[in-house]
Amino acid sequence: MKVILLGAPGAGKGSQATKIAEHYNIPHISTGDAFRSNIARGTEIGVYAKSFMDKGQLVPDDVVVKIVAERLSHKDCENGFLLDGFPRSIPQAEALEKLTEVDAVVDIEVDFSVITARLTGRRTCPCGESYHISWLNSDTCPKCGQKLFIRDDDKEETIKQRLDVYQKTTEPLVAFYEERGVVKKIDGNRPIEEVFASIKEALG
Ligand SMILES: [Zn+2]
Repeated sequence: MKVILLGAPGAGKGSQATKIAEHYNIPHISTGDAFRSNIARGTEIGVYAKSFMDKGQLVPDDVVVKIVAERLSHKDCENGFLLDGFPRSIPQAEALEKLTEVDAVVDIEVDFSVITARLTGRRTCPCGESYHISWLNSDTCPKCGQKLFIRDDDKEETIKQRLDVYQKTTEPLVAFYEERGVVKKIDGNRPIEEVFASIKEALG
């Protein structure tokens, strides 16, 4: 079971990734984690990638691909994997195709208005907890009593920009995989369990 997971920020991709990985007993591979692991182990590719990140530059495709390829060569990927955050571009998708064949691309679709409502309603506490105004009727943290705030990431203008970037990046990828007949579109405007049931049905 080799799966790629796509979904906009706020589409609930994280919770579904955990469930898919658990249900199919495959590792959840996030590019972020793979980068951090290489940097922490001080591997050659990790050091090289870090040199771009330290300058605030985008890590080139071939470096990202090398890091993912290294991760996919681990023994736990023998029966498959769930890729999250990769590929992000057509050159990356083409490089992945040379490494291995993908069985399914799960695309969690959520209306942008729903995502905006989810994300702009988030309130964060300096202690690290976060809450949603749909169920928390207070401007202080129930755990520690500090005043809650809206993270820059959760402001409407920032969210709109992130969603625009996501759409521009993802549309060509979906088209790429549609040509290969592996895209499974999932309606993500529903509770987590219902969305997961549809994913299981689509993956078989
Ligand atoms: Zn708190």
